[in-house]
Amino acid sequence: MPDKVLIIGAGAAGCAAAWSLSRYPDSFEVHVWEAADEPGGVATTRHWDGYWFNDGVQGGAPTYRNTIVWHRQLGFEPRPVHMTINFGKGPTWWNNYGAELETELVRRLRPEIRRFGQLMQHVHRYPVLYALVPIRTLLWLRGFSSEFANLMALPLTALFFGTGNQTPRVPSLVVAQVFTDDTLRLFEYDPDRLLSSQPQMFSFDNLHAIYSRALQSPHLHAVHLGRAAQRVQPLPNRVLVTDTAGVRESFDQVILACDADTALQLLGRQATWMQRQALGNVRYYRDVTVTHTDLEYMRKYYEIDMEERADMYFVRTDPQDPARIDMSFALSSYQPQLRDASGKRLPLFQTIFLDERERHRWTIEEIRSDHTVLTRWWKQMSHEWKHFAFAVPFMRYAQGGRYDNVWFAGSWTLMNLHEVAVVSGLAAAEMCARYAARDAEVVAAGMYPFAEDADAKRFYDMVTRVVYGRRARQGNKRA
Ligand SMILES: Cc1cc2nc3c(=O)[nH]c(=O)nc-3n(C[C@H](O)[C@H](O)[C@H](O)COP(=O)(O)OP(=O)(O)OC[C@H]3O[C@@H](n4cnc5c(N)ncnc54)[C@H](O)[C@@H]3O)c2cc1C
Repeated sequence: MPDKVLIIGAGAAGCAAAWSLSRYPDSFEVHVWEAADEPGGVATTRHWDGYWFNDGVQGGAPTYRNTIVWHRQLGFEPRPVHMTINFGKGPTWWNNYGAELETELVRRLRPEIRRFGQLMQHVHRYPVLYALVPIRTLLWLRGFSSEFANLMALPLTALFFGTGNQTPRVPSLVVAQVFTDDTLRLFEYDPDRLLSSQPQMFSFDNLHAIYSRALQSPHLHAVHLGRAAQRVQPLPNRVLVTDTAGVRESFDQVILACDADTALQLLGRQATWMQRQALGNVRYYRDVTVTHTDLEYMRKYYEIDMEERADMYFVRTDPQDPARIDMSFALSSYQPQLRDASGKRLPLFQTIFLDERERHRWTIEEIRSDHTVLTRWWKQMSHEWKHFAFAVPFMRYAQGGRYDNVWFAGSWTLMNLHEVAVVSGLAAAEMCARYAARDAEVVAAGMYPFAEDADAKRFYDMVTRVVYGRRARQGNKRA
């Protein structure tokens, strides 16, 4: 008899877990419940004027090896793009175009750019000292000017992690890794201009098609879209799960691949102390994205050239409060299918307004309504230092729960990156195999699907070490 496993949530993490387990139909009977009417979670696709566009998740770096290899296996090739960024406007403008478009701000702040490079190396060398020190605090302690912090360092961090207004509270170590860590590095640090190259990124193909295909395996026992779980009751050797219609089913193991706060709510009073600690300390903010064609709005707030430079990302700091940030990007510079018949990029933009509590600072009303294509609200996880101090270190003890039959997957288990979501789903599938009631052979065969790709494996090992700790090496207590 195969182990009956339920995956709650079919975002990238849930789809990865379902796909991985479905490769072993003799060992697992896989069920998926997803609250929305479509898979993908925040990785969704919409239509406009005869074109499709990904409206939430866009893509990632070449270090996203697990995602890239997996999408390829599903039949979708990520499309390479070069990332170009414009920060600020007029006197506060700087960019990553190099010497040709070097701005006055960069020339003036060059001594601090050099010191910042040295500081990031120092942080990388002594991680324990800086693991939890917020980046703004560190810059202040090291005597950096507020101009450098607010116009260069913080907007750059906001862009990397989509952290918006929580950016000042991102741990210094996390920022340093973007420049120094081989697994996470996005940019080559330039001592003269901070950034001067346009790194290669990948734009994901049609995400709706990708995650629909991930759930099309004939070996998946049941996929229920539009079915939300309401209660999860772990018991010795089984888990009872009730949906919002009051229907109750019994499973051997459950992977909670929904948001952390939903997972905690589903477990209710049966959550362990560790689960309350780890999941309860994941914080969310409500952001809104407006997808639009308002070039006038873009020109008002950003340095933008859609013809020659084909700018991609734009980061703006609020002149009244420079620690406040909002961002836009040109969807057609990111997504190559958004071209007209002559190959010209279509004027389709997305502006992200961060943290609903800061609504009074937003310029959302200035986007002309007749140029608005889509407005969507999102729940965005916070990367502030408290996440790394009070949630991540407890995650490994939350996994399994009282009876080793409840697992957590999702980017929130570590960091809000698509690669983390995918890897956490694959890792949760491996945990199900390790703790399967009846089948130890799957573990021996190796559940991890991309072991031949050394970079993918390195990232997978890093995530499982942090998120599962010793549990990743144990298992089969119930066998
Ligand atoms: C707007 C936006 C853009 C982003 N862009 C990028 C990007 O370009 N690159 C990048 O690396 N990262 C990006 N991210 C980060 C993103 O969070 C991750 O990339 C990743 O896609 C998250 O996947 P997940 O599976 O962890 O969670 P989610 O995608 O949030 O999936 C969770 C799923 O659980 C379901 N669910 C919730 N409650 C229940 C319930 N009770 N019962 C059943 N199902 C339930 C939800 O409907 C959802 O489908 C972006 C995030 C947002 C919000």
